[in-house]
Amino acid sequence: MKFEITYLGVQAALPHRGGITTSQVVNIHEDLYLLDCGEGTQMKLEQWHVRRNRIKAVLISHLHGDHVFGLPGLVTSFSHFQRTLPLVIIGPPGIREFLCTSLRISEAYIGFSLDIRELSHDGTLCVYEDKNVSVCAFPLHHRVRTYGYRLNEQVVLNVNRQKIEEYQLTPDQIREVRQKIDVNVKSGQKVPWTEIVSPKHLPRSYAFCTDTAYFPDVVGSVGGVDVLYHEATYLSDMQLQAVERFHSTAAEAGRIAAAAGVAQLVLGHMSSRYFQHLPFLEEAGMYASNVMIASEGLVLAIPQKKTYQILH
Ligand SMILES: [Zn+2]
Repeated sequence: MKFEITYLGVQAALPHRGGITTSQVVNIHEDLYLLDCGEGTQMKLEQWHVRRNRIKAVLISHLHGDHVFGLPGLVTSFSHFQRTLPLVIIGPPGIREFLCTSLRISEAYIGFSLDIRELSHDGTLCVYEDKNVSVCAFPLHHRVRTYGYRLNEQVVLNVNRQKIEEYQLTPDQIREVRQKIDVNVKSGQKVPWTEIVSPKHLPRSYAFCTDTAYFPDVVGSVGGVDVLYHEATYLSDMQLQAVERFHSTAAEAGRIAAAAGVAQLVLGHMSSRYFQHLPFLEEAGMYASNVMIASEGLVLAIPQKKTYQILH
């Protein structure tokens, strides 16, 4: 079962040398979730052979153009691909007006339903859920209202057949234990669901934090994720500009990753003023242990993790 991130665009501010601005697609069990939608996202979906009709939800961090200007084009084009599946779009206040105005003025034909959800909460909140994933959104610290996202794989449960026979569970009761509900069995005994079902694998998780100034409040929201994508627009030589422009340095991204205990840090959104990426790895690596740079076309797979087995 897949949990894979494809980096479609990693540039800050402007498309540059054929690369586009922020866009990523996360494949969880063959359903897709798009994170941000910079200008040119459609072209990159095609280039990297992403099956766009499998996109179930689009999660937008904020309304700066380099994170959202690809959205009206992407939504409009779905109709050319005979899309009928509803599309969920989640983002900060203004996302509805931005998209609906573009679609209305351009008289776009949309042959499927759009479920647009505007966020305005503080703290961490579950904003989307389906059979594969639950998505939490949490505020970042930028010039405009911005949210980070954490995608948690849903736990796939194993049913213990011996226990089903032992307790003579009915199909309805099996359904209940799968929904983590304790059941009253024939003997009158109450059996906890944990006795009958157990997780097949440890759930995997991915977090997306861009754009943001150094903001330690996110540590609780991204704690323990397998992979954290964090913006690193600057190196520490431009610390002052990072603060003024509400962006992070590579060192600050490293500090967040270390405090949150993430297994892998991925840096992106580097300013085009920098030609070398090695200093970003070095700076973040002073704090975090596993650091890499996102590059266009990179596919990062998070392997399935076995649950612990008690043998004796
Ligand atoms: Zn921004």
